[in-house]
Amino acid sequence: MERDNVQETIIKEAELFVKEEVRPYVNEFEENQGISKELIKKMAEKGYLAAPFPKEYGGLELDPVYYGLFTEVFGKASDATRALITVHTSLVGQTLLRFGTSEQKEKWLPKMAKGEVIGAFGLSEPETGSDAKNVQTTWEEKEDCYVINGTKKWITFGHLADLFIIIASNQGKSTAFLVERSFEGVETKRVEGLMVARTTYLAEISLNQVCIPKENVLGKVNYGFEYIVSAALDYGRYSIAWAGVGLAQEALEAMVTYSRKREQFGQKLRNFQLVRGMIGDAVTKVHAARALCVRAGELRKEKNKDAIIETTMSKYYTSKVAVEVTSDALQVHGAIGFTSQYPVERLYREAKVLEIIEGSSQMQQEMISDYGLMRYFKRR
Ligand SMILES: Cc1cc2nc3c(=O)[nH]c(=O)nc-3n(C[C@H](O)[C@H](O)[C@H](O)COP(=O)(O)OP(=O)(O)OC[C@H]3O[C@@H](n4cnc5c(N)ncnc54)[C@H](O)[C@@H]3O)c2cc1C
Repeated sequence: MERDNVQETIIKEAELFVKEEVRPYVNEFEENQGISKELIKKMAEKGYLAAPFPKEYGGLELDPVYYGLFTEVFGKASDATRALITVHTSLVGQTLLRFGTSEQKEKWLPKMAKGEVIGAFGLSEPETGSDAKNVQTTWEEKEDCYVINGTKKWITFGHLADLFIIIASNQGKSTAFLVERSFEGVETKRVEGLMVARTTYLAEISLNQVCIPKENVLGKVNYGFEYIVSAALDYGRYSIAWAGVGLAQEALEAMVTYSRKREQFGQKLRNFQLVRGMIGDAVTKVHAARALCVRAGELRKEKNKDAIIETTMSKYYTSKVAVEVTSDALQVHGAIGFTSQYPVERLYREAKVLEIIEGSSQMQQEMISDYGLMRYFKRR
């Protein structure tokens, strides 16, 4: 990968920021069921809530590869801050950048960069998950606005967000709307009691006769699924792919460190061949996962048409690697690995989510096999 001094410096600063402002408080986030507004403000002051945005909107202008490395830095330390970056800057920010009118971009992006407005992405519903084309939330055109009715569920940062991209349907065709929390009829309720995402303000959003001004359509009417959702999920998947690298790298470091300290049978764990096997596999998987993500990032930078499928493969593979490596890291820790004294129990829980969000692993496999069946068919 091509090195760039300015972007390298941003990554180094982000590492320092995470070391000082995030890592010491990770258990506190879990206890408090969320990251603090103060931390969000500090992230905004450093430009982290606009990492991939152009400078004109207050962004750091990280290119896709550096944005990936940046996501890994946060993903290694804290899933909550990484999730904020994924949803706010990728799913909402980059989608708005690509499809927003100049008025929409000027209105929202600088505020998002400053953390004055937090974004969330509302696609999933109680009855609609993988079959995302089939959203039940409806829109209807009235003289002066579009009226939306429905319920969104599992919306990351939904309970904190000020601005939502909401996907709604009319006669089977969906449209994306910019919905403001302040609109009458918008209510959010926190989703609680999950083994994961306790820190990310996961919400159910009720939309009851919400009147959306006509200028708040994102893209065009009926562009919802083919354009907005596809693009947003592609941005989100790229960020999740790097989240997987971060979690797996952190688990690898925990596994190695513990194996060098803990003794059984009068020896360090690291001397046992079966433990060494897990470490060898973990190192290889983490390196392979990162290489796949860097390649996807380079293709994204070149605006190569294969970037989308390579991103899909990266998301599929790194989430699988994250689950495997965090599981092995927990294995190496034995019983104490289940306690919050070590990070591996949290990493293990957080890794599993990556196989579900932004399209489950089975959905990624479907897309990858569609591609493979075309690409590798030889008429002989
Ligand atoms: C922590 C967390 C955060 C989330 N954040 C957001 C968010 O910010 N915004 C948002 O809109 N959504 C969000 N979601 C929802 C997420 O996108 C969905 O959970 C996901 O799309 C899967 O949908 P589902 O849970 O309804 O599972 P289902 O679609 O019901 O699938 C259940 C199982 O069946 C499998 N399956 C389904 N269809 C097929 C098929 N055709 N072939 C093979 N297997 C299939 C799936 O792979 C899965 O294993 C979040 C979810 C979680 C857990």
